[in-house]
Amino acid sequence: MSTQIKNFCQNCGNKLINQFCSHCKQTIFEDPKLAVASIIAKNNQILLIKRGVEPQIGKWAFPSGYVNRYETPEDALLREVKEETELDVQINKLIGIYSTKGNPVILAVYSVHLISHEAAAGSDATDVHWFELNQLPKLAFEHDNQILKNWLEVRS
Ligand SMILES: [Zn+2]
Repeated sequence: MSTQIKNFCQNCGNKLINQFCSHCKQTIFEDPKLAVASIIAKNNQILLIKRGVEPQIGKWAFPSGYVNRYETPEDALLREVKEETELDVQINKLIGIYSTKGNPVILAVYSVHLISHEAAAGSDATDVHWFELNQLPKLAFEHDNQILKNWLEVRS
């Protein structure tokens, strides 16, 4: 993040003094941004989407997206999976929370059970594909290999 974002109000653009905006009369917190991702598996395959939006457009990734304000992470996950793959799923378990120092995005990853079985590329995705676990493409994001490793340790 640039220092500009740090020093100016996100609401009105006023200069902040000790994170306080004298125009909005409130302290402006720089909140982290929560994202969720899902591991959708059947047998020895997992479903990946080809990303149709930045970042990492064109790369294969777990279905994922940002949690909206007032939405639970679980609801955000079900919504994003439906939007990107047209699948109905049920939350199975939390695999882990992933973050990098200096990056505002914190990623919560869940495994899910399939309710419906016909996957199709929806919004933000240009393709969906079931990949054999031992034939995965290069994944889009830095935590993806660690996520896979953690999931393999706890999958059921
Ligand atoms: Zn302000």
